[in-house]
Amino acid sequence: MTSFAEQTRFDGKTVLITGASSGLGAAMAVAFAEQGAEVAICGRRLDRVEQTAAAVEQTGRRCVAVQADTSSPEDCERFAQTAYDELGRIDVLINNAGIGTAVPMTRETVEEFRSVVDVNLNGVYWMSQVAVRRMQPGSNIINISSVLGTWSAGLPQAAYSATKAALLGLTRDLAVQLTGRKGIRVNAIQPGYFPTEMTDQQDADFLKGIADLAPMGRTGDVAELVNAAVFLASDAASYITGTSLVVDGGLTVR
Ligand code: NAD
Repeated sequence: MTSFAEQTRFDGKTVLITGASSGLGAAMAVAFAEQGAEVAICGRRLDRVEQTAAAVEQTGRRCVAVQADTSSPEDCERFAQTAYDELGRIDVLINNAGIGTAVPMTRETVEEFRSVVDVNLNGVYWMSQVAVRRMQPGSNIINISSVLGTWSAGLPQAAYSATKAALLGLTRDLAVQLTGRKGIRVNAIQPGYFPTEMTDQQDADFLKGIADLAPMGRTGDVAELVNAAVFLASDAASYITGTSLVVDGGLTVR
């Protein structure tokens, strides 16, 4: 039996992360490289994706940076093919790209609602399809959902909450389709609140209220979310599939 430390190494493996221009995606890219992985990342802003790639390469690992919008099936295919051509395999896919709106439903436009569904739900499905076609048994997918998939913070976030809930259903279904037949695990993570560009859009008093509500008494540190992703993607989580790991400082048990 190999040790936990060995099981959480990714030497010789490749990890694809969408939306790695900033925030959780950028931090995960560096963390997986520190664990030995070669990494492929995409985002809509090439300059920002290249900044993340430079940080990954500081660890001594390769990083393939691709400008791609995950709401486009063609961009997803190009990202997966480029990663596969450059790195030779796909072991882990982290569907991290996500956007949110906080608009009352009586005012939200068709375009606003559709844009969130296109990235947060449809893009996850397109990316999963193109990755799975290139994955071998032992690979896995992690979908970054949110506590808002099963809980409400009181803001009007219909599109965001609906898509993050949908990812939990997608995770279950893909796990049933892929785990037994192809040996590919599929899981989700539901983060609570972690300071990133996404939470920067929110009111400081709102975030303080969230921190006070969590039994932990604070919002999360990005490293605390990254650690959960590294564990779940690793061989140490080999018997975990079709489920969701809540990382929220206890926020949603209140
Ligand atoms: P962020 O805004 O810093 O990161 C989101 C990334 O996705 C950005 O780099 C953005 O450019 C990219 N992206 C958006 N649309 C894209 C598209 N169509 N194609 C490619 N890339 C695209 O925010 P974050 O907090 O790091 O969010 C990462 C994920 O975590 C998101 O799915 C978000 O919903 C989820 N999440 C975050 C929190 C939190 O508290 N930060 C909580 C729950 C869930």
